[in-house]
Amino acid sequence: TVYHFGGDAPHDDERQKDKTVTGGKGANLAVMAGIGLPVPPGFTITTEESVRYLNEGEDFSDKLRADVAEAVAHIERSVGKKLGDPADPLLVSVRSGAQVSMPGMMDTVLNLGLNDETVEGLATSSGDARFAWDSYRRFIQMYSDVVLGLDHGAFEQAVEIAKEDKGYFSDTEMEADDWRAIVDEFKQIVRRERGEPFPQDVEAQLWGAIAAVFESWDSERAKIYRRLNAIPAEWGTAVNVQAMVFGNMGDTSATGVAFTRDPSTGERAYYGEWLVNAQGEDVVAGIRTPQYLTRARREAAGAKLPSMEEAMPEAYAELERVFDLLERHYRDMQDIEFTVQEGKLWMLQTRTGKRTARAALKMAVDMVEEGLIDEKAAVLRIDPMALDQLLHPALDPDAPRDVVAKGLPASPGAASGAIVLDADTAEQRANRGDAVILVRVETSPEDIHGMHAARGILTARGGMTSHAAVVARGMGRPCVSGASSVSINLADRKLRIGSRELKEGDVITLDGATGEVMAGEVPTIEPELAGDFGTLMDWADRYRRMAVRTNAETPEDCRTARGFGAQGIGLCRTEHMFFDTGRISAMRAMILADDERGRRAALERLLPEQRSDFAEIFRTMAGLPCTIRLLDPPLHEFLPSRDEEFQELASDLSVGVEHLKRRAGELHEFNPMLGHRGCRLGITFPEIYEMQARAIFEAACEVTGEGGDPVVPEIMIPLVATRRELDILRKLVERVAADVFEERGASVDYLVGTMIELPRAALMAGKIAKEAMFFSFGTNDLTQTALGVSRDDASRFLGPYVEKGIYQRDPFVSLDIEGVGELVRLAAERGRATRADIKLGICGEHGGDPASIDFCETTGLDYVSASPYRVPIARLAAAQAAL
Ligand code: PEP
Ligand code: MG
Repeated sequence: TVYHFGGDAPHDDERQKDKTVTGGKGANLAVMAGIGLPVPPGFTITTEESVRYLNEGEDFSDKLRADVAEAVAHIERSVGKKLGDPADPLLVSVRSGAQVSMPGMMDTVLNLGLNDETVEGLATSSGDARFAWDSYRRFIQMYSDVVLGLDHGAFEQAVEIAKEDKGYFSDTEMEADDWRAIVDEFKQIVRRERGEPFPQDVEAQLWGAIAAVFESWDSERAKIYRRLNAIPAEWGTAVNVQAMVFGNMGDTSATGVAFTRDPSTGERAYYGEWLVNAQGEDVVAGIRTPQYLTRARREAAGAKLPSMEEAMPEAYAELERVFDLLERHYRDMQDIEFTVQEGKLWMLQTRTGKRTARAALKMAVDMVEEGLIDEKAAVLRIDPMALDQLLHPALDPDAPRDVVAKGLPASPGAASGAIVLDADTAEQRANRGDAVILVRVETSPEDIHGMHAARGILTARGGMTSHAAVVARGMGRPCVSGASSVSINLADRKLRIGSRELKEGDVITLDGATGEVMAGEVPTIEPELAGDFGTLMDWADRYRRMAVRTNAETPEDCRTARGFGAQGIGLCRTEHMFFDTGRISAMRAMILADDERGRRAALERLLPEQRSDFAEIFRTMAGLPCTIRLLDPPLHEFLPSRDEEFQELASDLSVGVEHLKRRAGELHEFNPMLGHRGCRLGITFPEIYEMQARAIFEAACEVTGEGGDPVVPEIMIPLVATRRELDILRKLVERVAADVFEERGASVDYLVGTMIELPRAALMAGKIAKEAMFFSFGTNDLTQTALGVSRDDASRFLGPYVEKGIYQRDPFVSLDIEGVGELVRLAAERGRATRADIKLGICGEHGGDPASIDFCETTGLDYVSASPYRVPIARLAAAQAAL
């Protein structure tokens, strides 16, 4: 299907304004035309057409050919020019537009419709030969790059050489005949590279561009972007063809991009960049440095070149009117592209603007105050994962900074890392665990994987709307762009920043909030959680049903999580407490003991340590529920591996090294994840769980005795598969509790429950619930066992699995709702059928993943538990799930 917009087209078909049908760009063009904004006429080919084209052997249907012909005729009627008319040609732009904006896809071809004949017509009809030839060379270069797939380097070089020959400094000095000569050269380059001349037939040009947009949906870069952002391949992309308007027709023409609020800070101030006598790509490509849109900004920056507000007051006033209309229509900040052709303003695009997390919060809170949206809309508007940017440390303002350069504050946050000069190196080093900063002259969609791998991005060229800036903000990476004192020597892998020589691998620090670049590493401080963040989180808490707990086992993590609003501990992995120095040797002595007596002696040493750990945690959590899991991992995880460690342990325990090594060998397992671990340890070595239960109850009695809210421990048994296992271990815990309470003459309330992390446990949940007062879904192991995929080895093949769409996302990151989720649903239902008030929670990694949290809400779980830094994300996601 093809939809018309602008001109005399009707805009009342709701499907045309649905971005799943016409893509973001197409839908918004229809909306803008519908509310009476000046939009050059054009048409949108729907997303379904691209999917059909790719699925059906890359051929256009007769229907599509006919629809496009009719739509071109509509543009021709509206503009009063004809495509290919040698006297007065219509020129069009062709742009891709998926549901969400996607770097990596073919973006834009401008000036389509020019050829050796029509360029003469354009020269005559516009009365400007220079403009005509300049437009033609731009068209050949863009078309060759994005449609024919030729390297743009050769074209740029030809222009550079021509300028040098003429002694020109800038493109604006090139005259009509200079551009005409360039066009000849460009055509030769095309013929040489392709063995065919540049297409002169304007219809062929148009269909070539449409095919290129369709095919760009399946380009490598687009696929990478889709994978990183969980965008389904079935969406496809729309194509927008639109009559050209020209920002390069002299000093009353201009082009620019603008935001209705500041995308970095969220401040309510128009923000944008523009260029006189230029075409759109000049602004974003960073070829000329753009000027400020508003006078206030220009003055604040101390810039000399006039703002649009000052240079073109009438067009600017019209633009402000448009900003206002658009914000009122969309009730959100808009990111706009516009062109002024001989004094008249034209809107080329609007979309909801990307923003930093800080700006998103400020805008949402402000818009509630302004009455533009309500609290619920504000809560729904913030991407929970974006909060991550705010929860991490910023540069310590009091720490010394060795500032070596300053660029634009393109995306906030602080990052330190080793300099890398290309995207592949960034990815390789990041995979090895290194923190890296990607430093480029400017970035392009080919750099996406490297930008993702890097902690931060620094570019020498480009403004606040350059590729680097936009993509970095979207990814939440700190970015400093346009640091013009940076010059890069790729051959020697060196760079110069200001007066400093640096090389690849040297550490630098970026402050994306100020644009500063510092040599070395600068210390950081904890983030500020009050203000807009606090307001929005209060709103989220108001609308959320599920509680949010944390996975924590140290008092420090508990404090961090409480600061982030955790309402209890959902998982305390007690084994983590055994790794401390001093304890590990008692633990090893316990594991390597020859018999129960030896084990009990070692456990005696561990008891007071565990007790004081638990007491400290209970104090920190101050009466909030705490789920404590008894020992889970296979014992050999605690064993020494290196010779020195064996020697040390042997002398510690006064036994021979060989003896120890033999015992360690006996503990070897072929498949430890399915081996002697979890409740199987408690069944075979009950003294271990007895010691842990004792430590928990003694600590609970002690802390409750100190006053304050009573401690109600929730004791959790891991890796249960059968009711009988839980029956035995529940009784063990109850026996220990009775002993401790009698010894102390005091008691506490407590719960005994289990992890549901094996498929059999999920299926048998109805029976298991007879012994369990709560279930906590251990979706890490449940995913591993349900899928038969080792959680420790999956990275080798899960990448290709996700690429091929076998799994939409890594199932260890985002729950496989269809499969593993079915087990969770079933277990919840069967558990409740046995015990109506059974408490249900999740403590796998998925408890901090928004999509999985949404599933937990639907399934009616009582709480989710996430690692401390994920707690705010979970609070917001839980609220969104409930709304
Ligand atoms: C789980 O399996 O989901 C879980 C939380 O436990 P662990 O990751 O410690 O195995
Ligand atoms: Mg587990």
